[in-house]
Formats: sequence, C-alpha cells, structure tokens
Amino acid sequence: MIKLKKRKILLLPGDGIGPEVISEVKKIIEWFNKNKSLDFEIDEDLVGGSSYEKNGTPITDEVFYKAIESEAVILGAVGGPKWDNLEFSKKPERALLKLRKELKLFANLRPAICFKQLVNASTLKPELVSGLDILFVRELTGGIYFGEPRGIIPIDNGERKGINTHIYTSSEIQRVARVAFDLARKRNNKVTSCEKSNVMESGQLWKEEVNSLHEKEYKDVELNHMLADNCAMQLVRNPKQFDVIVTDNLFGDMLSDEAAMLTGSLGLLPSASLGTKDKNGNMRSLYEPVHGSAPDIAGKGISNPIASILSFSMALRYSLNLDKEADFLDKAVQKVLDDGLRTKDILSKGMKEVSTSEMGNAIISKLQ
Ligand code: NAD
Repeated sequence: MIKLKKRKILLLPGDGIGPEVISEVKKIIEWFNKNKSLDFEIDEDLVGGSSYEKNGTPITDEVFYKAIESEAVILGAVGGPKWDNLEFSKKPERALLKLRKELKLFANLRPAICFKQLVNASTLKPELVSGLDILFVRELTGGIYFGEPRGIIPIDNGERKGINTHIYTSSEIQRVARVAFDLARKRNNKVTSCEKSNVMESGQLWKEEVNSLHEKEYKDVELNHMLADNCAMQLVRNPKQFDVIVTDNLFGDMLSDEAAMLTGSLGLLPSASLGTKDKNGNMRSLYEPVHGSAPDIAGKGISNPIASILSFSMALRYSLNLDKEADFLDKAVQKVLDDGLRTKDILSKGMKEVSTSEMGNAIISKLQ
C-alpha cells in the first residue's frame, strides 16, 4: 500500500464531556492510521477551562500556533459553571472566539439531519422530520458579535447603555454566500438566504449582495430569500422545504440551534468552521460537535460521542479530501444505530443502552 504524507490533526478536548467524546475520535483516527495507512499525526492539548487551570489563560500562544499549523483542529467543548464568574478575557469561550477570529473561520457549516432510526426522538411529528437534511451555513466572524463600537457605558441619571453593532461588508457577505452556493450544487441545488431586510440596513445589503453574486455566478442554483423570523417559523412548520440555509452570525446562531432540536439530540450534530483557501488550496478549519461541555453528565461515561465522530467525518471530507473515508465512517455510524445501540440521550424502548466508549468501539467494529 502507498503511504501518504503525514497530516497534522490537533485534538483540543476542552472541558466537561469534551475529553470523553474526543477520546473516541482519537480511537477512530488511530484505526484509520492502522488500517487505511493514512498516517495522521495526532497532537493533543488544553483549551478552555482546563487550559485556564494550568496556564491562567483559556488558550496559550503555543496551542494557538499549533492550531495554525494543523490541517484540521478537532475540538470537544469548552466551559462550565466553575469558570462562569471569571472576567470576560479569561472565560473558556474566549478560546473558541479567538480560534474562530484569528484563523478567519468565516463559514460555519452545521448539518441538521434527522436519522431515520431516531425519528421518534424529535419533538415534531415523524412525517415532518423523517429524512430531514438541512445544511446551515452561518457567517461566523462578522456581524453583531464582533462589530464596533461595543460595550457598556454610563449615561445620565445613573443609567447604563449596552451597545453592540451589526456590521457586514459586501465581501464578507459574498464569501459566505459563495460557500453556500458551492455546497448547494453538491446537494439539492437550493439556497435560502435569511436576513431582516425589512427592518435592518445590514439585512438589505445582505439580500442585495447575495442576489448580485447569484446573478453573476450561480444562476443554476435556486435562490430564495426569507426573513429570519419567518425562517424560525418555517423550520417548525415545514422543515423539509429547506436544502442549504445561509445567514449571518446572529440569526445563524439561533436558527441552527432551533434546527438542531428538530433532529432530537444534540449528541448527534457535528459542525465545521472553514476559512479561506490559500493559493495552494490549503484552508484553516475547526471541527466540533454542536453541543457544549454538558457538565451535568461529565465523568459518567454516558455522553454521546457521535457528534464528535461525525465532526471528524466532516474533517475528512472538507479539509483532508478523503470523501470515501468520510462516507465509510458515516455508514459505520448508521449501522450501529441500525443495530439498536444507543447512548442514554437517544435511548428509546427496545434499544440497547451503551456507554460512551462502547459506542466508539461499536463504530470501530463496523469499520472493520
Ligand atoms: P450543553 O450542550 O452542554 O448541554 C445541554 C443538554 O444536552 C444537557 O442536558 C447535556 O447533558 C445534553 N448533552 C449535550 N451534549 C451531549 C452529548 N454528547 N451526549 C449526551 N447528552 C448531551 O449546553 P449547556 O448546558 O447550555 O452548556 C454547558 C456548558 O457548555 C456551558 O458552560 C456553555 O457555555 C458551554 N458551551 C460550550 C459550547 C462549545 O464549546 N462550543 C457550546 C455550547 C455551550
């Protein structure tokens, strides 16, 4: 067999259930190394609250530079009640925001897929969600979470004013819309762009720029515009009308969480955050489950590792150009669900409960 060159993957397990779920990802990467001669070079380091405990900062410069030099970064989750009262710059979440911002990860991809085996886990009627397959493309480095001016300032009469600024430029809008159109071409060729152009100038610009790019380069893709509040309603009324949804940082945060719940479990949902490609086609990227650090179940061995494992599958697909291996891994997850194995969060009558590591082992056994 031909040996491929070593590809650096940085694992940042983080806090709470992060280390448990990422340790299952590590087993899978090691399986690929051993059985598919892929030779991934795995490094692992601290981020979030665990980094704060050891280094006094949620991410050290050393870890940050490792992330820059890796082909893919796979993160577990950060945060927990222990660090809730730290000053803003030391909070675990700052590590994530720094990685997203400094690696210029402007496109956040979040699939909301309702696995047929788990259709009853959704709060919606099975016929509404069965076969659901939406891909959210959320702008991640602009908009109101980063816009200036921002802050809390004193005003008259002892009152204070909180300020955040919602800003987008034409190029920021067009680069994320381009990602959405390109991905739609590989799926059902339909993009829904969401904003609030009825009440926000930034929303009006969003709509105009998406239209202009569509007109110039993507006329073959079906494009619809929808106000973000209507999209929130349509997601629970008729979610299967959507293929790719592209939206800004703020609306994307909320709408993709709403869509996540249509699928029944946070423990199943992966995500990818992608940067721009350099002239050699290389791209910075970060992969992470959608869920947080779940302090309520951390250390019990019951967390679901599937979201993290599917995040690695996205890394295979989007960063490492290994589509076949990604399909292979996705199928192994499906087969384990077909066999009726479930972690506690997705357990239903007649199914067999397994622990975090048993779920990882079962997926590996299907890869064999
Ligand atoms: P959460 O996603 O951690 O948990 C919400 C619920 O889902 C909990 O009941 C939890 O037990 C369950 N859950 C989550 N992931 C699961 C899994 N893999 N398997 C089984 N059950 C799972 O959200 P939260 O409780 O709002 O936040 C907890 C902490 O995580 C907070 O400190 C928050 O800031 C942080 N957080 C981090 C990220 C991230 O690192 N990207 C994202 C969201 C929240």
